[in-house]
Amino acid sequence: MTVHQPAARAPLMSLDDALASLLGRVVPLSAFESVATFDADRRVLAQDLVSALQVPPNDNSSMDGYAVRSVDVTAPGVVLSVSQRIAAGHAAEPLRPGTCARIFTGAPMPEGADAVVMQEDTQEVGGNIHGVHINAVPQPGQWVRRAGEDVTRGTVVLSRGQRLTPAGLGLAASLGLAHVPVVARPRVALFSTGDELVMPGEVPPQDMKPGAIYNSNRFFLRALLQRLGCEVSDLGIVPDRREATLAALKTAADHHDLILTSGGVSVGEEDHIKPAVQQLGSLDLWQIGMKPGKPFAYGSVHRDAGAGASASQPCHFIGLPGNPVSSFVTFVLLVRPFLLRLQGASTDIPKPVMLPAHFTVTRADKRREFLRVRRNAEGGLDLFPNQSSGVLTSAVWGDGLVDNPAGVTIAHGDSVPYLSFAELLA
Ligand code: AMP
Ligand code: MG
Repeated sequence: MTVHQPAARAPLMSLDDALASLLGRVVPLSAFESVATFDADRRVLAQDLVSALQVPPNDNSSMDGYAVRSVDVTAPGVVLSVSQRIAAGHAAEPLRPGTCARIFTGAPMPEGADAVVMQEDTQEVGGNIHGVHINAVPQPGQWVRRAGEDVTRGTVVLSRGQRLTPAGLGLAASLGLAHVPVVARPRVALFSTGDELVMPGEVPPQDMKPGAIYNSNRFFLRALLQRLGCEVSDLGIVPDRREATLAALKTAADHHDLILTSGGVSVGEEDHIKPAVQQLGSLDLWQIGMKPGKPFAYGSVHRDAGAGASASQPCHFIGLPGNPVSSFVTFVLLVRPFLLRLQGASTDIPKPVMLPAHFTVTRADKRREFLRVRRNAEGGLDLFPNQSSGVLTSAVWGDGLVDNPAGVTIAHGDSVPYLSFAELLA
């Protein structure tokens, strides 16, 4: 019989120290590629985008109406004849003094005109004369969008290290860029560990053996990685045999920047990932002072000399806890910044906003706690009733986390720091 000695209780590492230590090990990827602007959402720019033109290219109208010389309209009711019609995308003739031009939104301003009178402030003159009553005196510049008011030539419109957003794609396109230079996608191999895990679809719910559970972590981890621009090799559940584990890790290390696993990093746990990573590289098991999410592992796996240019750098290894909420929270607070840094992007954890708690926490925890909460219609925060690290419903019901320091209780109405999932999952 093997007697397991309880592991000595290691001092807890703070989340800030864990993050700093993790980020300190990243060498940002140097490879970059040119991708179609259409496909560049959430990718990180590898170079500054400098505008070769001004946007908009010409002064143009921001209203449907009439372009005028403001000096021609000194009092309401002036009648001007319409000397031309300018639609968006068509060139304008210089505006003859004492006349106006019918103009549409986005159409270039005719030379000489300095204001637009909106259609609603005009009235067509009846009969054969093609003219309009101008019923409002325009200010010079009224309803005119100036050339270059969005972007001037030569400016850095989007910077290297910036992550592209849908608006960013539009802005790049407005400069005429059909392709943009972005940092290569991090290549991530994803493994799950645990003999109890079954893939949905393999066994129907009614036939699940006692103790078996469906692998849920694999689903959200893959989606989270993809949102961060990673190319994911989903290697499924690693067979619980030493040789198979070693072989899977070795192959993954050669072709990936990170091996990410969930489960099997608790103190004293028996599984093959830990000794295999230790054999092929190094592994540190951290006990992080956070809840959920205490056990966490960082390590590296050496690459084969044949692994090409990347052989000089070992492959990163991160082992997340198995409990689904622990896995989820440690991903967003630690792995996300790690992957952003790997792409040379800003790694700031989103800044919390202070919101009133519409709940209480009467028992202070020894660890910094990330509570699953939801904003309510009164502008406060409601707490999900079951904060257990196994209850994934809390992360679906919630729209964010309260970052509650260790040793702190919360009274109803207290201002508490709230981090929204919208930002943490972006
Ligand atoms: P571990 O970190 O391996 O000790 O696992 C902690 C808890 O999380 C156990 O109850 C596991 O059954 C559960 N767990 C581990 N991996 C997964 C997974 N991929 N999906 C769902 N639950 C998991
Ligand atoms: Mg396990």
